[in-house]
Amino acid sequence: MRSVLSLFSKSMFQIKKTRLGNVEDIVNSSLCMGCGVCEPVCPVRCIKIDESETTGQQIPIVDQSTCIAGCDVCLRVCPGEEVDFDLLNEKYIGKIPERKDIGHVKNTIVGHASDSKLRFSASSGGALTALLVYLLEKDFIDGAVVVRMNADHPHMTEVIIARTVEDLLASKGSKYCPASSGQGLRAIMREPGRYAFVGLSCHVHAARKFQEVFRKYSNRIVLNLGLFCGGGITFNGTRFLLEQLDVEEEELVQLTLRGDGWPGKTTAVKKDGTRCELNKRAGATTLHEAATYTSWMHRYFFPPRCLTCTDLTAQLADISFGDPWLDRFTKNDTQGLSMMVVRTTAGQRFLDLAIRDGAITAIDNATPQEVADSQKKLNKKIQTRPYRIAAKFLGIATPNYGELYNEGSSSPIAIASAIWDYTRLWLGRNHRLWKFLLLLEEVHQHRIVFQAKWRGRIIRLMKKITFRTPPQ
Ligand SMILES: Cc1cc2nc3c(=O)[nH]c(=O)nc-3n(C[C@H](O)[C@H](O)[C@H](O)COP(=O)(O)OP(=O)(O)OC[C@H]3O[C@@H](n4cnc5c(N)ncnc54)[C@H](O)[C@@H]3O)c2cc1C
Ligand code: SF4
Ligand code: SF4
Ligand code: SF4
Repeated sequence: MRSVLSLFSKSMFQIKKTRLGNVEDIVNSSLCMGCGVCEPVCPVRCIKIDESETTGQQIPIVDQSTCIAGCDVCLRVCPGEEVDFDLLNEKYIGKIPERKDIGHVKNTIVGHASDSKLRFSASSGGALTALLVYLLEKDFIDGAVVVRMNADHPHMTEVIIARTVEDLLASKGSKYCPASSGQGLRAIMREPGRYAFVGLSCHVHAARKFQEVFRKYSNRIVLNLGLFCGGGITFNGTRFLLEQLDVEEEELVQLTLRGDGWPGKTTAVKKDGTRCELNKRAGATTLHEAATYTSWMHRYFFPPRCLTCTDLTAQLADISFGDPWLDRFTKNDTQGLSMMVVRTTAGQRFLDLAIRDGAITAIDNATPQEVADSQKKLNKKIQTRPYRIAAKFLGIATPNYGELYNEGSSSPIAIASAIWDYTRLWLGRNHRLWKFLLLLEEVHQHRIVFQAKWRGRIIRLMKKITFRTPPQ
């Protein structure tokens, strides 16, 4: 049984057993999530980050002829195989977190960019970009590693060091597609200065490992800003999205993956000026739209490594940013709110200044439990045991986060469900099966609506029966 599954997964995920002693081993064992940090650290520049045609991921391609045997610098900074949360938490956050699901929380503020245009056009409430603009204008930083959509290839991203307010504003918004923030560390190595680094949880892991290995550049990163991350999306996901929006890659002039208020929408603009839009799941107007959104964002287009990633809230960042998915914040909001989880003294100091000087408007504080409650995927994220067991069956390697991060059920149902999640990634890689996966997702959306409708009715009926006042 196990060898059959393993054969199946070899064809599913192109797993190759090689020992090259560089990051191609990470790619070959499906541990790469495309953070990009291996590229700038290579002493002989033999790594290039590029798209894999089979997986749609951004991966390193190594020129094996120039790779230095025994060098292994790229492996030492790579967060694909190992992240020592205890060590990095102690070193950069100052303590082992009380809660391993959301990391150490010093303070959580819900708020938004005070500039209403930025607030509306950014992802959540634009607080992250507002903070960067403030830090640059007040000369606390010389630049920031950020990601923007590529003007020449609008479906792709590029990592830049933003040294002007214009560049920072051009990079606002979530890029739900491959982005290799680690590549931005090249500029930090090359040019002394004070930089902010922005990235997903795994990009932050990469930046922290980089700081550990390259101590001489460590102080150049004065602030590490993380994005909550439920899962990265491959280029296959972008292609699926464009296909659903009926936009050809060649006719695309602009792709904004999130913005336009809260919860926001995805907009593709064609050469002839046509705008094609897809609402976020929470704002979807039809079940088909909801299914299109969840197919693209939630189930089929992750790199396999995301299924065993435990860090949803970027716990090694100075401040982590996410959406406050809680009724008390979002019920009446259409303009956008950011949830800012402050973890370090440096993070607190910069955020306090930005609030004091009016760059960010704070609305309220949130408790650590509210941070956890705001993220539906959190439990699944930290309970990686079924995924680790499933991965073992499938012959896929899993990362090492230390003893702490291997919780969850090992029941046959949990493992079967994890295998199904891996199978879904395989469906996403097969263009011919996209119609089928969309159908599956539509059925799933109908089921959610049906359940919600009938559960409510049954509960109301039960209440009526149970609490009926006896006749006088
Ligand atoms: C792939 C992905 C998954 C996410 N999953 C969740 C989730 O499960 N739950 C949740 O609450 N929030 C999630 N977020 C975070 C959320 O979408 C917002 O990015 C966050 O709340 C910050 O919003 P903001 O308006 O304050 O930031 P903005 O002002 O819009 O600034 C965003 C900053 O992030 C940078 N950035 C955008 N995309 C990327 C990327 N892919 N890689 C590196 N840097 C990037 C931009 O360069 C910009 O500097 C996710 C974001 C991404 C990109
Ligand atoms: S082992 Fe060294 S030389 Fe080889 S790819 Fe990695 S960093 Fe470059
Ligand atoms: S450093 Fe990042 S991009 Fe390079 S192999 Fe590791 S996970 Fe992949
Ligand atoms: S789920 Fe984890 S590994 Fe995947 S993109 Fe997000 S932070 Fe990176």
